[in-house]
Amino acid sequence: MPQSSYKSTPPRDPENRHTGAAPARGSAGLDDLLEIVVSKRLKKTWRVEVNFKTGERVLTIPEALADPPQEVKDSLIRWAMMPMTRRARRNAEFVNNKRKMEETIRAYMESCGVARERKSRVNPKIFDHQTKGFVYDLREIFDTLNRGYFNGEIKSYIRWGQADSRTSYQTTRVDNDGNPFHLITVSGVYDSPQVPQYAIYGLVYHEMLHIAIPPRTVNSRRVIHGRDFKAAEKKFPFYDQWIEWERENMWRLLKNAKRRVKRAKKAAKR
Ligand SMILES: [Zn+2]
Repeated sequence: MPQSSYKSTPPRDPENRHTGAAPARGSAGLDDLLEIVVSKRLKKTWRVEVNFKTGERVLTIPEALADPPQEVKDSLIRWAMMPMTRRARRNAEFVNNKRKMEETIRAYMESCGVARERKSRVNPKIFDHQTKGFVYDLREIFDTLNRGYFNGEIKSYIRWGQADSRTSYQTTRVDNDGNPFHLITVSGVYDSPQVPQYAIYGLVYHEMLHIAIPPRTVNSRRVIHGRDFKAAEKKFPFYDQWIEWERENMWRLLKNAKRRVKRAKKAAKR
């Protein structure tokens, strides 16, 4: 079985000390503890096995996860290194965290065309009530971009993701009559007055491009951000500015969003 290329990527996330992920024992140690194997047989899911004597873990992943973006890699590695005690499993934060990582991984797999095991039907109209944020109305942004760059031809629903989620993604869902429809989910962190207009437009434009230029398979590899995709990105004049803005500001916005959500949860408990 081929070794995955990202075996040596250590998770960098000092923020997540309390989230249930096992402490990183220095980047050198992780390689010894975690081995990643790409399986041809595994299609829709991934798994981890632990040797309880040595503490070594083997993460087996499908080919669709062999070379994902950094965020997905980090989620996979953190997921694989989570403690496996019964006590951890009963901890709500642990369960919540695990679910979030799995959601990030699944969303990526879906964006590569790997269907979920069970696809539940949903009335897409419910998403129409999830477009208005505190600052930005996603429907307005979507329609403006659709008119300006896609001749109004992109048909998709769009909604805000969780307030402290940094993941944006595009998926295909199925309505009650069995018809597929597109759904774009935008990172809730972007619904902030600190996010400049060009940034949220750049992000929505990127997700719309995924519908306009769907992934294709070249030599049994999924090409998601291919050359045509990259060329189309350049048509949005603030694209590079958005990327740079995200690189410089995202971590801070995310940190604040996480803190806010935590505070709100505490307040709700009282
Ligand atoms: Zn993308």
